[in-house]
Amino acid sequence: MYTLHTDLYDFNCNYFGTMNDITNPESLNDKGVVIVACCDHFKVPNSEYVSSPRQFFTIQNLANSIPASNDPKFDSTLGSIEYALALMNVNNIVVCGHLDCKIIRHWSNRSRDVSGNNEVTKFKENACAAVKRLYPHATEHEKINLRIREHLLTQIKNLQSHSFVMSRLEEGSLKIHGWLVDDQSDHIYSYNPSRSLFGFIDGAPL
Ligand SMILES: [Zn+2]
Repeated sequence: MYTLHTDLYDFNCNYFGTMNDITNPESLNDKGVVIVACCDHFKVPNSEYVSSPRQFFTIQNLANSIPASNDPKFDSTLGSIEYALALMNVNNIVVCGHLDCKIIRHWSNRSRDVSGNNEVTKFKENACAAVKRLYPHATEHEKINLRIREHLLTQIKNLQSHSFVMSRLEEGSLKIHGWLVDDQSDHIYSYNPSRSLFGFIDGAPL
């Protein structure tokens, strides 16, 4: 079990949804779900996977990344999220990582890229730096698991930096979910901001 430091994030628990928001046919009037997942995740949760009556709009990119509002690079992921919120009747966003992420492992083994604004540099400056600073005694195996978690939380933080997302969160018409999937068991672990850990939907924390 990994209980994460809360130093880096100041998440409002009210902005986070529960699995009931997605699976309960009564809860949110059949509105859709946007899920931002990793492109080497071959079994991304969808409406069949979680037995949901809602339509899932899947966006896949390198390590389920979402640029922050101060990131000047054009990003189709952000454009897709904005489109879904504005025009596709969506009121849940899932940022979905996975435990066997080869991209996170690949980025972890690369040296810092000096060319500037790219995914490796951002990963090194955020998730890698956070794990190095906050978990100095972790083993290499633990560090990979921690980077996967910290990277996912960084993407949630980035998502909340956009005014078109924050306005919907503040009015209560949008919920965020942080999911981590075990590729072997297919179990989904959901981020619990009040406990700062990823908890198995039906049982023990991961
Ligand atoms: Zn991956």
